[in-house]
Amino acid sequence: MAEYNSTSKKAEEFINDEKIKSTLAFAQEHKDDLELMNEILEKGREYKGLSYAEAATLLECEDPEIIQQIFDLGKEIKEHFYGNRIVMFAPLYLSNYCVNGCVYCPYHGQNKTIPRKKLTQDEIRDEVIALQDMGHKRLAIEAGEHPKENPIEYILESIKTIYSIKHKNGAIRRVNVNIAATTVENYRKLKEAGIGTYILFQETYNKEAYEQLHPSGPKGDYAYHTEAMDRAMEAGIDDVGCGVLFGLNNYKYDFVGMLMHAHHLEKTFGCGPHTISVPRVRPADDIDPDTFDNGVPDDIFKRIVAVLRIAVPYTGMIMSTRESAKTRRDCLEIGITQISGGSRTSVGGYVDELDEDGGFDSEDTAQFDVEDRRTLGEVVDWLIDLGYVPSFCTACYREGRTGDRFMSLLKAGQIANICQPNAMMTLKEFLIDYASPETKAKGDALIEEKLSLIPNDKVREICHEHLKEIEDGNRDFRF
Ligand code: SF4
Ligand code: SF4
Repeated sequence: MAEYNSTSKKAEEFINDEKIKSTLAFAQEHKDDLELMNEILEKGREYKGLSYAEAATLLECEDPEIIQQIFDLGKEIKEHFYGNRIVMFAPLYLSNYCVNGCVYCPYHGQNKTIPRKKLTQDEIRDEVIALQDMGHKRLAIEAGEHPKENPIEYILESIKTIYSIKHKNGAIRRVNVNIAATTVENYRKLKEAGIGTYILFQETYNKEAYEQLHPSGPKGDYAYHTEAMDRAMEAGIDDVGCGVLFGLNNYKYDFVGMLMHAHHLEKTFGCGPHTISVPRVRPADDIDPDTFDNGVPDDIFKRIVAVLRIAVPYTGMIMSTRESAKTRRDCLEIGITQISGGSRTSVGGYVDELDEDGGFDSEDTAQFDVEDRRTLGEVVDWLIDLGYVPSFCTACYREGRTGDRFMSLLKAGQIANICQPNAMMTLKEFLIDYASPETKAKGDALIEEKLSLIPNDKVREICHEHLKEIEDGNRDFRF
């Protein structure tokens, strides 16, 4: 039987089944130990994170006062490190050809009812222009695993195309990549192509469940998939994004598994994941979420978000349009730092959006149903009303602030001084180029209010200058 070893190269040692089970048993045994809960919360208040065992114990507690303290601390930590800025992004589906058999995804190879589509470079160009015209600057590209249809060359060419398109004042300044686990050599190629974060969801950390959920295709190899982040980091990709698909397996197990993975990366490479995503299973063609009896109710889901915020304060947390506006609002308050807006989860969906007849012909290629169907402009307007500063910032990766360089700035509390002016300048660009007059008026007032709160005189002065230059038609300033 494999033994736990946080710095091992072997999946079954750094994500250790026995260790996860004993951690969960400890958490269950201590769920009423309020003294212990208070001690863990006290440690969380140092803003340096929690171990996976501490986080699992906190998540197990049902005491209403402790739960309230968890939410309060999640909020406090979020405000401390990330202020009121929310980073915006959109997914871009390149191809839904896939050879894998993932039972929760309509793109699985055995699904004969879903139309298959792969964007040509010209179609990618059209999609990117549509995304730029919405105001997006940061994309996450998605593609199924298919050696013939979606080889690494296709992905690399697509990234090049995306970065090359400059339509009006638009530009995609950061391309994050969510493609199947691959080799060190291919990760090197992605690094050279200038990707932002490499994102790969584990789906579930439970090996047995994982194998049942992936009955065919290369993704069924648990070890190869679980060790993918190690290969990516070995290839020089500093920023990796983890996530599980909540609802597939027991959420407590996956919660511990994900934090164990983060711990492994931190111990092995000196830097934990750049982001963590928290998707829940959604309906789709050929997929009924009720098939999976591990659904995570909203109240537990919010606790997961808040405890993650306390456990890994330096890791960005992403929530997609899978979730409703209400859930997104609640979770933004207690931990989420990045959301998508105006998303289409189908291949070619953004160009369809521009169709005058209002129909989304490509929607039958969607990977999952979107719950929050508002446009990007509406989401931005809503965020401003809630007092957040929507940010289209991509500065860190372009300034070489990735991996541990990014983390050390964040840990030192320095990133906030950089993020705030960047958020305001990128919001200003959005307001001028893409927003409705009402949103623009509200956004300008918000920028004015927040500008005066920049503590550093010099930064405030430079930011003020740049805001004026943006009004004069200049773009792309950053700290
Ligand atoms: Fe393919 Fe990914 Fe869907 Fe699995 S989850 S079927 S790998 S697209
Ligand atoms: Fe993110 Fe860096 Fe921009 Fe802050 S300055 S929002 S950390 S890219």
